[in-house]
Amino acid sequence: MLEIVDLTKRYGDVIGCADVSLTIEDGELFSIVGPSGSGKSTLLRCIGGLEVPQKGQIVIDGEDITESKPYQRDTSMVFQDLALFPHMTVRENIDYGMKRQEVAKDVRNERISENLSLVSLDGYADRKISQLSGGEQQRVALARSLAVQPTILLLDEPLASLDQQLRVVLQNELYELQRRLGQTMVYVTHDQNVALSISDRVAVMNDAHVEQVGTPRELYQDPQTLFVASFIGDSNIFDGTVTAVDGHQAKVNSGEHDIWGQQIDEVNDSQSVRMAIKSERLRLNEGGNHRNEFDGTVDRVEYRGNNSKVRVETESGLKLEVVTEDASLYDIDEDVVVSWAEDDCRIYASE
Ligand code: ADP
Ligand code: MG
Repeated sequence: MLEIVDLTKRYGDVIGCADVSLTIEDGELFSIVGPSGSGKSTLLRCIGGLEVPQKGQIVIDGEDITESKPYQRDTSMVFQDLALFPHMTVRENIDYGMKRQEVAKDVRNERISENLSLVSLDGYADRKISQLSGGEQQRVALARSLAVQPTILLLDEPLASLDQQLRVVLQNELYELQRRLGQTMVYVTHDQNVALSISDRVAVMNDAHVEQVGTPRELYQDPQTLFVASFIGDSNIFDGTVTAVDGHQAKVNSGEHDIWGQQIDEVNDSQSVRMAIKSERLRLNEGGNHRNEFDGTVDRVEYRGNNSKVRVETESGLKLEVVTEDASLYDIDEDVVVSWAEDDCRIYASE
């Protein structure tokens, strides 16, 4: 088990990550997701020992390793730029870390073939790195990191430099490998789709801190902060002022609209708030069920294959994005009714 307790890393005046606390279980594929600059790499590099935090602890299986050198801890890192030795062979690259660990030669040879086989590169041992494609190099970097048999494998955007198709292939291979080996992995990515599709749990980072930790489903269905609501999935965000509170729901005035939602943060009358609703939770021409129902006009239809985004502007200028599977039903300039359930619209206190 990996425990991160109250971790803070500063670079001079710049905060890399602040007060981060997380627990990662054995065998988990745990992702850290967030925009560029939110502190993902800093956190990962602290776990791997490439950065030393000013405050907090990192504990693996009960042992405090906060200040140990990278080679003294049971972690291994795969970087975006891979950091392979281009003029060495695949075998030499994989051998390198094991040699440093003083693993016996016959064991090393065994692990080289085993791990090449795991990443579907049987027979590649004597090729030079410079003779491999991007995807093959990626697999070698993974094999090299697995060969040292780390307790925790750390991956920092390892697929970011590959084209979309290859990325999806390797992402699935990584997922299957993780499932087969039960290898604990901490996976950093700025791509929420990757994080949601392969992870057991995800930490969402923003501005150097962790906003929420949860399963992909929890983050999507039950975002605890406005940032998570807007970062995960497609959401509409409104600003407004509370004008009535009714149990766990509240009425918010936003421009000329009164919008009902459920309180995620507890709010009071006259308080400034922000609301978020997932675009696929808005309904077109299904009025009559909810207190949130507005007339509008279709502004734009954005075709996206399996679904489409329909942009609607209400009479008083509120712009809404609706994700629907049946965009063919709607034409530009057509009058529509937009409605949504109160509880799908989540109310957060403004900062
Ligand atoms: P991410 O991986 O999410 O893009 P980083 O952890 O790389 O974010 O960066 C977090 C913050 O720390 C950013 O503001 C970044 O500019 C800063 N930072 C990262 N590394 C360094 C460094 N070596 N020196 C100074 N500032 C850094
Ligand atoms: Mg990074």
